[in-house]
Amino acid sequence: MNTRNTKQKEIILSALQQMHNHPSILELYEQVREFDSSIGQATVYRNVSKLVEEGLILKIPTNDGVDHYDGNCMNHYHFMCQKCHKLYDLYDDSFVPFLKKVGKGRNFKVDRVHLLLEGICHECE
Ligand SMILES: [Zn+2]
Ligand SMILES: [Zn+2]
Repeated sequence: MNTRNTKQKEIILSALQQMHNHPSILELYEQVREFDSSIGQATVYRNVSKLVEEGLILKIPTNDGVDHYDGNCMNHYHFMCQKCHKLYDLYDDSFVPFLKKVGKGRNFKVDRVHLLLEGICHECE
């Protein structure tokens, strides 16, 4: 990989890490343009899928029609409000041992757990 590609990837990664609102790829693209307006949309899309594959960022598939991305690599989970479509971070992982046990029962070794809870948030209720 040449240096320009590496640098673009770094810019995209750090742009996402600075956003704490789980942006869509378009929102991320707009943020990236603030740092470097020469980076095109195709470059952002390509690098984002690479970063997801490498496990450096998280893709959160939701049912509001767009995928959301997260540069927060800490083990955490999400709650999506069905009214305002806001994604909240959850850090309680007390259910993880339970899910690992479920996997073990089927002879699956569980490495990672993604969880999306849905409902109505405290602001909308
Ligand atoms: Zn809400
Ligand atoms: Zn998150």
